[in-house]
Amino acid sequence: MGIEAEGIINGLTPGEAFSVLVPFEETGILDRWGVTSVRVVIDDGRNISNDQRRKVFALIGDITDWLVAPGRGKRTRAEYETLREMHLLYIIDLLGQGKYEDAELVRRQLTAHYCEILDLAPFSLSNVDMATARDFIDWLVELCVEYGIPCIDTLLNRCEDIGRYLYACVAHRRCAICGKKADIHEVETVGMGRNRQKMHHSGQLVQPLCRAHHNEVGKIGQADFDNKYHLEGIRLDENLCEILGWKK
Ligand SMILES: [Zn+2]
Repeated sequence: MGIEAEGIINGLTPGEAFSVLVPFEETGILDRWGVTSVRVVIDDGRNISNDQRRKVFALIGDITDWLVAPGRGKRTRAEYETLREMHLLYIIDLLGQGKYEDAELVRRQLTAHYCEILDLAPFSLSNVDMATARDFIDWLVELCVEYGIPCIDTLLNRCEDIGRYLYACVAHRRCAICGKKADIHEVETVGMGRNRQKMHHSGQLVQPLCRAHHNEVGKIGQADFDNKYHLEGIRLDENLCEILGWKK
């Protein structure tokens, strides 16, 4: 994560650039690490919106329902491993106190995990900044995609960054609309009869879709389908080709 330092804007060329002065005594570190560039986060002072807060509660609600679903008292080894990865293993025995209490427990635990990963101070949903809220929502969405957690609403309506969501759906082969197991649907059909093993896929426009939604594209056509679900495609990069086992 690196070191955080705050600075002040001390020069501004309209329409071009600004410079920042960052008081920082440990300049030796910059030398040692060979640091030549830094990233500046512009704090626009905006806090989490009501819409974002609703998304967090909806996602946490679905994750909680998944955790306490009937029959989940008898978990397989793999399911325990999943819970351990999600840092939720140690709270499952505490659940069952009521819907609201359970969700609060899960929210606090997942927030703590997220802050730990990013080395952030714990935050409250009452006043966290908008950018952190946005990233936290997309992180929760990724968890749901990765672990196949059933959600009441399509995650298309929950995610903040649709590109990031589609990327996760392709990587985990989940339908971008309903979350079921998906195949990778090629939006731009590359000439029939070409050998899939031999052709390059990097840069290809795709949508991860389950069989039912794939069939719907065939029925109503790509343009109407995209309009209906407000869905766009995603272009495969080399990393996704690698994950899918497709030639780059
Ligand atoms: Zn689907």
